[in-house]
Amino acid sequence: MSHVAALAAQLRATQTRPWTLMEVCGGQTHAIVRWGIDQLLPEGLRLIHGPGCPVCVTPATVLDQAQALARRPEVILCSYGDMLRVPGSAPGEDLLGVRAAGGDVRLLTSPLQALALARREPHRQVVFLAVGFETTAPATALLALQAEALGLGNLSLLVAHVRVPPAMAAILREPGNQVQGFLAAGHVGSVMGLAELQPLARDHGVPVVMTGFAPEELMAGLLRCVAMLEAGTAGVANAYPSVVREQGNPGARALLERVFRVVDQPWRGLGVIAAGGLALRPELAWLDARQRFALEAYCGTPAAVEDPCAGEQCSEGPCAEAQCIAGRILQGRALPSDCPAFGGRCTPEHPLGAPMVSSEGACAAYHRYRADKAQARPAMAPGGGG
Ligand code: SF4
Repeated sequence: MSHVAALAAQLRATQTRPWTLMEVCGGQTHAIVRWGIDQLLPEGLRLIHGPGCPVCVTPATVLDQAQALARRPEVILCSYGDMLRVPGSAPGEDLLGVRAAGGDVRLLTSPLQALALARREPHRQVVFLAVGFETTAPATALLALQAEALGLGNLSLLVAHVRVPPAMAAILREPGNQVQGFLAAGHVGSVMGLAELQPLARDHGVPVVMTGFAPEELMAGLLRCVAMLEAGTAGVANAYPSVVREQGNPGARALLERVFRVVDQPWRGLGVIAAGGLALRPELAWLDARQRFALEAYCGTPAAVEDPCAGEQCSEGPCAEAQCIAGRILQGRALPSDCPAFGGRCTPEHPLGAPMVSSEGACAAYHRYRADKAQARPAMAPGGGG
């Protein structure tokens, strides 16, 4: 930790005024809470946890659709592990519950396993629930292209991929926003590069620093961001050059380009975000599970706008029952320890909301590393961007 301590000392020497930064990625939130990085910061430098947990921001509408598909006898519904425990709109209903009731729900570690499954089970319909940021979307794109190449008619995709930069812009546009600079997620940067963040930094006049996940990488990102703020410099900087290249991963970006189009999309906790998601291109619509099973489209629909966690507080479902404040946590307006259910009615073993389910969720991070509420930093004042 000596390198971290040295960087913390540099940070103290650099900062002359109060600043509020947001780490966008849930993986970074976990690392910050785990290593106590926030507790090493100088007075006046505040970190807000961002919405970068793909499981947490997947709308209840999508979970409802996945559950409905998993109840059909001809369907094998598959997705990543955390998604199986995330409640939809109905209290306590998740994909594991559907499986316990006889639904065929499978856990995958790679989307390409869905391809093998579809070939092994030609008389069943295999549906892959595809969620996540720009980091996981290329693997979904590869799955779509391979299904097309093989002419697999019994595989389809329930797509709910999201894009990070539009969500960052939405946070900056919020009335009362207090975020003055971002630590951007290094793994997203490894795919997308730096260019797509330039308009955000330019239009909003903020520093955006590509940052890694180790303690010294986080501290280096914080130092860079504060130095830019102190100098009055907006722009995109790369404090994670060992992984992030200027152009990102051109091969992965080409896959995204071939398979997906950008759409307005609901984020749980943030509402509908313009250009905030990805949908299959029209030429691949035959792979779309919503079309194949005549489900309602959800991008930009009224149902999407009414996503249960879009407001200050969840208005329906298990969150409301528990007085869950997942929406405010995802907006950076509250800390997990502010939630009355935290650590009592809501635990990783019995989660009431997605941020406690996900391995990248802020509630899970606080429960794992900072269960003692007395250790948590004070919550932001309501209505003041926090
Ligand atoms: S602790 Fe549980 S109930 Fe509270 S905000 Fe987090 S997920 Fe929701």
